[in-house]
Amino acid sequence: MARPIQAHIDLGALEHNLRLARRAAPTARIMSVIKAEGYGHGLLRAAEALAATDGFALLDIRDAVRLREAGYRQTILLLEGFFGAEDLHLLAEYDLTSVIHSAYQVAMLDAYPARKNLDVWLKLNTGMNRLGFAPQQVAQAMEQLRRHRAVRDITLMTHFANADEARGIAEPLALFNDVAAPYRVARSLANSAAILRYPETHGDWVRAGIMLYGSSPFAEVGAQQLGLRPAMTLSSRIIATQELCSGDEVGYGAQFRAGHNMRIGIVACGYADGYPRCAPNGAPILVDGQRAKILGRVSMDMLYVDLSDSPQAGIGSRVVLWGEDMPIDEVARAAGTVGYELMCALARRVPVVV
Ligand SMILES: *Cc1c(COP(=O)(O)O)cnc(C)c1O
Repeated sequence: MARPIQAHIDLGALEHNLRLARRAAPTARIMSVIKAEGYGHGLLRAAEALAATDGFALLDIRDAVRLREAGYRQTILLLEGFFGAEDLHLLAEYDLTSVIHSAYQVAMLDAYPARKNLDVWLKLNTGMNRLGFAPQQVAQAMEQLRRHRAVRDITLMTHFANADEARGIAEPLALFNDVAAPYRVARSLANSAAILRYPETHGDWVRAGIMLYGSSPFAEVGAQQLGLRPAMTLSSRIIATQELCSGDEVGYGAQFRAGHNMRIGIVACGYADGYPRCAPNGAPILVDGQRAKILGRVSMDMLYVDLSDSPQAGIGSRVVLWGEDMPIDEVARAAGTVGYELMCALARRVPVVV
């Protein structure tokens, strides 16, 4: 029998969350962001569940080719664009859309093999200071792209640094609208947080990522409150138990010391499966459907759970690390991170079932 850990991907949840994105942004087209292997859910698995989308966005041109070859006809957008002139023939051959975020990419376009069939998303930096042209550089880039023999269609985009925070989007939105005003081109601004909170950012295309996978983009609002359903459930089983006496210590570095006699369970899941090593004593976990707490330091293949309040639990008990009835955002918060990072870190060795 195989090691009991598994990740269950609920395709119906992905479909549900996409419908929710559509209801939230009814006038926009939906770009489903499936970078990082569909936030850890599997590239083609996520794409299949999200097949009703208007477009897919990702980073790796080889993944874009995989999607086209799997038969998807929607817009496929490369979020970091192309990296060298040698990528350009693949853009042409597979009808891929590219972000253009820097002048060096405009210069490389001369190597594009065809006329007038490349769609580009020109990216404006509105304060995130990651990718994108400065506001005063946009006019020149826009002019160069419009005149370029390779370019068919231009969309103007930006990305918000604080759509999920109290700071919000007012300043970057005003800047974007200002810069975009002279141009009759499609616009794309919103990530999940902006889709859910700021209708004024929806424009022509919204870019839905984390919400599709059923995790909340907001620290202070849970996914369930937003109507999202978790797509990934990471589960395993207790494979051993230990009876501790008061004073006994647990695990590497003795990060936990029993204050009284107690029983603990050993769960077949560790950081090599993608569970965060930094999760502290008390991080939430589900044992036989009931809330419990982990204790001790997470090791490579195993972690410890306090069974003090779970007298019925024992060897073979099912454990949910995150997902159904155990929000990934709560586990992430306990570990000082976000649901995004936990999903993306799901290890290849974990068997996936749908
Ligand atoms: C990842 C990404 C998104 C999706 O963000 P979420 O917060 O997951 O919705 C949108 N746009 C860009 C440019 C991204 O890199």
